[in-house]
This record gives sequence, structure tokens and C-alpha cells, in this order.
Amino acid sequence: MSTAIENRTVESTIVESQNIFLMAEDNPLDAEIFSEMLKNSFGNRYSIFCVDRFKKILQALETNSFNALILDMNLPDSSGVNNVVEIGEKFPNLPIIVLTGDDDIQKAIDALQNGAQDYLSKNHVTPETLERSLRYASERKQIEQKLKFALQDAAFKNIQLEAQAKHDSLTGLANRTYFADVASRVIHRARRYKCLASLMYFDLNGFKKINDNYGHVAGDELLKQVSNRLMCIVRDTEFLARMGGDEFVIITDLLKDKTEIYPLLKRIQQQFDTPFKIGPHEISVSTSIGIAFYPEADSLDLLIKHADCAMYEAKSEPEKSICFYSGKLAAQYARTQKIESSFTKAIEKNELVAFFQPIISVSDPDLVYVEALARWHSSELGNISPSEFIPIAESTPTINNITQIISQKSSLLSQGLRIMGLPLQKIAINVDAYQLSDPHFSRRLLNQIEISHLEPNQICLELTERQVVQNINQCKTQIELLRREGITLALDDFGTGYSSITYLLDLPFDVLKIDRILIADIDKNTRNQALVAGIVEMAHRLDMKVVAEGIESNCEKDAAINLGCDFLQGFFYSGPMPLEEALLFFQLKK
Ligand code: C2E
Ligand code: MG
Ligand code: MG
Repeated sequence: MSTAIENRTVESTIVESQNIFLMAEDNPLDAEIFSEMLKNSFGNRYSIFCVDRFKKILQALETNSFNALILDMNLPDSSGVNNVVEIGEKFPNLPIIVLTGDDDIQKAIDALQNGAQDYLSKNHVTPETLERSLRYASERKQIEQKLKFALQDAAFKNIQLEAQAKHDSLTGLANRTYFADVASRVIHRARRYKCLASLMYFDLNGFKKINDNYGHVAGDELLKQVSNRLMCIVRDTEFLARMGGDEFVIITDLLKDKTEIYPLLKRIQQQFDTPFKIGPHEISVSTSIGIAFYPEADSLDLLIKHADCAMYEAKSEPEKSICFYSGKLAAQYARTQKIESSFTKAIEKNELVAFFQPIISVSDPDLVYVEALARWHSSELGNISPSEFIPIAESTPTINNITQIISQKSSLLSQGLRIMGLPLQKIAINVDAYQLSDPHFSRRLLNQIEISHLEPNQICLELTERQVVQNINQCKTQIELLRREGITLALDDFGTGYSSITYLLDLPFDVLKIDRILIADIDKNTRNQALVAGIVEMAHRLDMKVVAEGIESNCEKDAAINLGCDFLQGFFYSGPMPLEEALLFFQLKK
């Protein structure tokens, strides 16, 4: 290998070698000495290129690659530690050895601290020390580089980990922890500047059903799309997070007036105006929003609790999709929470029983037709009306346990009546339309009926008008299946404010139960008389029998009969009774 020494200029062609060095030295004699030393050390296995100006170092490095740079710290066009810094920045992989005079030891240390790998004193350098220094500089540079990459990698991973810890992996939104952090600061700021802050808590109505009907993958996709839409509408002063499941939250900063949140509310609602396209399905979703304000709630926990409570209220009435927290809500909320927590234990503790209320046939007074109604006597809270606990149990699997208990108890009534020689012709069992969205509902119910020694044609399932309207498609399939098995179906609480005549035509109901709202004072209220007469006429034409609910007086009974109702139910005959009383009722009637 040639010793391509070219003083003061750089060769354009570089000899192929493992040891290609660049030397920056303006003193030709020194350059000569160092070249000789290299020759002693490496024999023919090296190439050296010498330059005498700083700018030429840069040119050389740009066009060629070198194993190391031997750098005189004092070059005519630029000197000092800055040369090391500049070269290090531009050529981070290049090992640098600086050459110093005896009195320049501090400069050498500075150079080491600023990126040089080693230094040599010109007056004491020997071929051995030069060779060792070159090898050492190269190894050190490699270690430095590895360390640098490892540190960069660790820093990147740390950033990633930090981002993951703060964000929800499904939607990319801030998670509960991050939200708590930001929200605490928002409250702190509101306190300091004596401003308001608002917290909106909202979820997707019927999300569970969407998951059940379309599967969890579709549910996840829906959450992602909802998050994307929401991300586009929040401003700098608003912070959006996903609290888990289908629950989202937005906290707004520094408000002067509560009405300032109206535009945001509108923007949130608008995001649900267009259906979501999930695979082949177009899914329409609505939301219920609960709102609470700081300083009315003066801690984050309380703000969340208030907003959650308001959201619960917004959910309870379908036409109300937004609800502001108020003190009255707090009491209701506390009661609901209590009921909810005791209810799970009620079933284990056998606190749920069935009461039975007779339904009297106008044409055949001996017919035994009874409605089974759930009753709960809680050891903690006393008697709780089904109107309170059924809506809480609705949309949870517990509602199926209620149906199971009711059919078991109905079986006892049927057995008792049989012994008395009074066969039970119909037992009406209330079910939640939500239960019918479960494709296994009919099979499970038929099993329960069989176990309870009841015949399907003894059963009439009552579904409330409101729920049927909200779940029409899911109900349809199950209703058809059940009817095929001989179970009859009744549309309960008809006339409670949900226009559903068109749905009626669509579904094969056998019985229509007119709600007691329309029956109250039916003997005097001419408007209700007209309505009931119309409903009866329509039902009969559709081949349905009509039950008048809530008959409380003789006059109401007579009016209902005159208007053509087929069955009568109400306190006038009897309220709901425990099993023994119901058996006695029928025995006495016999
Ligand atoms: P519903 O199915 O319409 O039942 C009739 C309700 O009216 C019963 O209230 C009954 O006690 C009441 N009632 C009957 N006659 C009269 C009357 O002459 N005057 C007045 N003021 N009320 C009368 P209850 O037992 O409190 O049940 C309320 C609702 O809870 C039921 O309305 C039904 O929708 C639901 N429910 C009850 N048990 C069950 C159940 O096992 N499952 C389901 N899903 N819902 C149930
Ligand atoms: Mg009913
Ligand atoms: Mg009813």
C-alpha cells in the first residue's frame, strides 16, 4: 500500500486502506514527522492526507471518508476548541485526535470535553503513542456512538411510554389519569381567577345493544369514529378525554358565564346527527350529556359525580338528552345508587317475590287470567316499587333473573289453582323489550316455562309500548318465534305518550292494554271516552283483545264495558296480592 503523502492538498483519489487518516497541520516539518511516525507504525498499510487550513478539512471530509482526523488546534484560518465542535457536529462519526503544544494542556482538555477522542503533545509523541492513540480514538468513538444511539433510543421509548400512559390505546384520546391531571389544573386556575369551569360527562345511548347486535369489533370502531368526530370539535380551552367504555368527558376552562358552554353542547350534539358507517352498517347513535360546574362542585371528584348524576337523569327520559346538575338530582341520584347496590344482593337474599293481580274477562267471569308483578322488600331500604327498581334492572342481565323468579312463582300459583280445580288460563308476565334483543331469549324462556310446568299457551308476555317503539327490530324476530310456540303477547301501557299505531300494525300482538292514564275517570271524561272507543275499535279490527288497566270504581268498570273493553284490571277487583291471598281470591270467587 502506498504512503500517499501529499503535503498541503488533498488527493481526490483515496487509496483503499483500513488506515486512512486526515492530518490538519500547517507546519510542513511537523506534518513530515507525523507521516514518518505513521510509516513506522503501519508500514505500507496506511494512507495519509494532509491539509493546512480549517476550511480544507471540511472540504476533505465532505468528499472522502477517513478513519480519523489528526488535528492541530492552531490553524491559520481558525483555531481553538470551536474547530473540534464544528467538525463533531458536521461529521459525528469521525474520531478526532488533537495535537497540542506543552503549554496547551487546558485546550486539550477542552477539546476532549467538546468531542475529541484523544490528544497528543507534539513534543512527546512517539510512533507507538501515535498508533495507540489512533486505535484508542477509533474505539472510543465507536463506544460513544453506540452509547449515543442507546440513549436516543431510550429517550424515544420514554416519550412513547409517557404518551401511552396518558392516552387511551383504542381512540388515542386522553385517558382518565391524564384527564385527572389536566382537570385538577383547570380547577386550580378557575379558583385563582375566580372563574367558572364546566364538566360535561356523556355516553352513547344503547351502546351495549350495539355491541351485542353488531359485535365488539364494530363497537370499538364506533368508539373510534365518535372520538375522531369529537376531536375535531374541541377548542384550545376545552379538554376531551375517554373515561372508559363509551363514556367521554370534556372540561372547559375559565368561563365567565354558564351560557358560554352552549356552542360546545351544540357542537357535540351535531356530531351525532349523521349516522356512523361501520362496515356494511349505518348506525345512528345519540348521546346523553350531564353537566356540572365549578365552583358549585369545588373538587374534581364532586364535579365528576355531579355531571355523572346529571347524565343519568338525561338518560332516564328519552326526549331529554342534556341535563344540568341540580340539588334535587343529587337526592334522586343517591337513592338510585343505593337501590342499584342493594339490588344485586336482593336476588341472592330471595327478597324478590311475585304478586298476582286478577284480570277479569267481561264475557266469561270464570276465566282465570292473572298478571304477575314483581315485588321487592329490601332488608336495607324497605319496600321498593317496581317502577323504581325495574328501570335500574333494565339493560342489565339481572332482568332475566327477575323473569325467572316470576315464572317460578307463577308455577306455584298454577299448581295451587289446579288443586282447587280452577285451571289457570293465562298468566301475564312482564318482560323488558331489552331482553328480547338477546337472540337466546325465547329458548331460555321456553325452558323456564317447561321447568315451571307451565304450558306456552298459558303465558302472555307483556311488553311496554315505550320499549317496543325503541327496540322494534330486535323485538320483531323474538316475538314471531314466541308466538309460533303458542305464547301470546300483550302491548302494555298503551297510550302513555308514544305514538306507535304504525308499529302496532307491524307486530303480531294479541292483547292491547290501555294504560290507566286513559281509564282514570273514564265515566266522566268524554275526551278519554272518545280515545278509548277509537282504540278498542282499532284493536278489534286488528284481531286484538283489549284490557282496561286501572279500574278503580264501579263507574269506571261500567264505562269500560260500554266502550267495548274485553278485560278489566284494577283495584276495583283487587290490587296485586301475594300467592296465598290470590289463591283465596279465586277460591271465594268460585
Ligand atoms: P304494569 O305492567 O302496567 O302493571 C300494572 C301496574 O299498575 C302495577 O304496578 C299495578 O300494581 C298497578 N295497578 C293495577 N291496578 C291499578 C289500579 O287500579 N290503580 C292504580 N293506581 N294502579 C294499579 P306495579 O306493580 O307497581 O308495577 C309497575 C310496573 O312495573 C308494571 O306496570 C310493569 O311495567 C313493571 N313491572 C312489574 N313487574 C315486572 C316484572 O316482573 N318485569 C318487568 N320487566 N316489569 C315489571
Ligand atoms: Mg303489565
Ligand atoms: Mg300497564
